[in-house]
Amino acid sequence: MKVPILTYHSNNIAGNDYATNDHVALAEDLRTIARLGLRIVSAAEVVDALLGATPASSVDNAVALTFDDGSYFDWYDMEHPHYGTQRGFAGILRDFAAATGMRAHATSFVIVSPAARAVLDVTCMAGRDWWRDEWWPQAAAEGLVAIENHSWDHNHATLPQTVQREQRKGTFKSIDSHADADAEIRAAADWLDTHLSPYRSTLFAYPYGEWNDYLVREYLPQYAHEHRLRAAFTGEPQPVEANSNRWLLPRYVCGHHWKEPPELERLLRETRS
Ligand SMILES: [Zn+2]
Repeated sequence: MKVPILTYHSNNIAGNDYATNDHVALAEDLRTIARLGLRIVSAAEVVDALLGATPASSVDNAVALTFDDGSYFDWYDMEHPHYGTQRGFAGILRDFAAATGMRAHATSFVIVSPAARAVLDVTCMAGRDWWRDEWWPQAAAEGLVAIENHSWDHNHATLPQTVQREQRKGTFKSIDSHADADAEIRAAADWLDTHLSPYRSTLFAYPYGEWNDYLVREYLPQYAHEHRLRAAFTGEPQPVEANSNRWLLPRYVCGHHWKEPPELERLLRETRS
């Protein structure tokens, strides 16, 4: 098994071309995926195959898509203050499915804390209340965009206060105690399971793609009865393979690991199983 997982940030809009806009990139990349004869599976299905719950062949010739942070740009068509109307990521998936008859799916890793999102809406976006969560239950119920855990508050540098005990912010490497991991990971899973019931959060994506030995060797493997997760994703540019560590599943990030369509095509051809 060899499955590339591709990551997009819907907040990445600094223009209207492939290099400056993840919406333009996602739409183009879906066409590349179809042209190469690949299909789209969910990140959860990749984890199912990795953990032996389904045959490895269930993810042959497949890619999975993930979105990070969980703002309105994942779901709604939005009028950007500088760059005009933006088709939301969900709409881009729907357009692709309608045009090709292929299955489309993505997993959105969301920042869970409502209070943190209210601040990040101002510090990282236009301050128009575009990071609310009323679409998450709709998305979870419909099944086109799965909602999963990207931590409680991202330990984000622009927040006045995070749950990290010493306020070492702007990194996830400092989440290195049980109390901090519980506050960032388990509390976020609890919130999602309460608000998206009957859906259950089982996947985690590390904020900033950053992890540490405590999380990978101790907290995630040993406290599964508390956090209930099955796997965690980084931003290391490799495909998921049969011997991948379930707490360090790699992902390719748009704009970092490929910057134009031919680079993605090369990457997909190289990782083809
Ligand atoms: Zn993030």
